[in-house]
Amino acid sequence: MSTLAVVGGGPAGLMAAEVARAAGVEVDLFDAKGSVGRKFLIAGKGGLNLTHCEPMPGFARRYREREREVSGWLRDFDADALRAWARALGVETFVGSSGRVFPADLKAAPLLRGWVRRLHAQGVRFHMQHRWRGWREDGALRFESPGGERYVRADAVVLALGGGSWPQLGSDGAWQDMLRERDVDIAPLKPANCGFDIGWSAHFAERHAGAPLKPVVAYWRDMAGIEHHLQGECVATATGIEGSLVYALSADLRDTVARDGTALLHLDLAPGRDQSRLREALARPRQRRSLGEHLRRQAGVSGVKSALLHEVMDRTAMEDPGTLAATIKRLPLRLQRPRPIAEAISSAGGVRLEALDATLMFKPSAGMPPGIFCAGEMLDWEAPTGGYLLTACFASGKRAGESAAAWLADIASRQERSGRGP
Ligand SMILES: Cc1cc2nc3c(=O)[nH]c(=O)nc-3n(C[C@H](O)[C@H](O)[C@H](O)COP(=O)(O)OP(=O)(O)OC[C@H]3O[C@@H](n4cnc5c(N)ncnc54)[C@H](O)[C@@H]3O)c2cc1C
Repeated sequence: MSTLAVVGGGPAGLMAAEVARAAGVEVDLFDAKGSVGRKFLIAGKGGLNLTHCEPMPGFARRYREREREVSGWLRDFDADALRAWARALGVETFVGSSGRVFPADLKAAPLLRGWVRRLHAQGVRFHMQHRWRGWREDGALRFESPGGERYVRADAVVLALGGGSWPQLGSDGAWQDMLRERDVDIAPLKPANCGFDIGWSAHFAERHAGAPLKPVVAYWRDMAGIEHHLQGECVATATGIEGSLVYALSADLRDTVARDGTALLHLDLAPGRDQSRLREALARPRQRRSLGEHLRRQAGVSGVKSALLHEVMDRTAMEDPGTLAATIKRLPLRLQRPRPIAEAISSAGGVRLEALDATLMFKPSAGMPPGIFCAGEMLDWEAPTGGYLLTACFASGKRAGESAAAWLADIASRQERSGRGP
């Protein structure tokens, strides 16, 4: 029987192993860590946002420049298929108020445990603490294991090594060097769904790091210069800003910083309040009240929001009701740089999809021998949080696993026809 080596035991690798095994292939799964799915488990700490109920084509548009390619994977395994798959593992899902889909118990561990148990029962062989180090000259996969160097020959390989965020969970992006040695075209890994540095005063950082900013409306421009806005929540950090609202804009902001050196983000600190009414309210006599108290009473702005105004305005400007109202409605924040990739929720960049065919096998021109497939976050696509990340990891894992099984079956039947046997 043909053998498939799956390297990387995140959602993408486990899914590739599952579907290939179901197609009758002998599957060996290798992971550098002592157990699989560590990032998946951490995602569970935030409730495990498995997928999203947004209908197509809006769902596919979340994958930005890679909408076309990811749509292809989603045709075989979309949000509904993912929910049905979880149900088959005994985990019901529900749609939250924002359209995000979660397991009923909001946990990743029961789902992962059930899945790994089923994979064992189906005959997938797990090899933990096997760090892939590339290939030996004869094409065997080279692993570092507790027992020393180990070489593994497989008829096909699925690489599902993850992106570069949270490297302590296993996906450290070290595969980039191994693939570059073979001239594989890789877009440099970049932080995605990340926070940004702004460079607060020490006074602000000491008092307001960790303070939530909610609700606020963010205004920003995409790379084409088109302005967008989005309401949500974010958090002031010691160095800048992060949180779900910032993550949602982070691809545009990151690319703008890369192009222009900085990116401008505006925040409306008082959504739903009209600027001229705010100005009128702020123009009322303050009597002996402090400016902070005046702002709180007349504009409903206090705490970290008030401190932000002090960060960007001088005293004279703050005493002018018109300028103050305008700044409350459009507070300018100059973003200096994205936070490092190690802190990001996910990474952009990776193996360029042009190096792979539609089955996710490396093209002969990519510098790889035939029969090597690739899936998950190590591929060059990105998406916002909201369940879109995991959905594309599962869907690409399914595509790669099924394609590998079909490719092996094709090779075996050709060998049989030519009388050589598998
Ligand atoms: C804090 C946090 C919260 C998140 N929450 C969500 C969420 O709610 N919803 C969502 O959609 N997404 C979420 N994500 C993103 C999501 O978890 C990832 O996109 C997804 O896990 C990527 O799957 P993958 O299989 O491609 O890679 P990974 O899950 O990163 O798995 C890659 C595997 O490869 C192994 N590996 C790496 N290099 C080697 C090597 N050289 N040899 C052997 N093994 C190796 C690693 O040990 C790892 O097990 C979150 C991420 C983080 C960090």
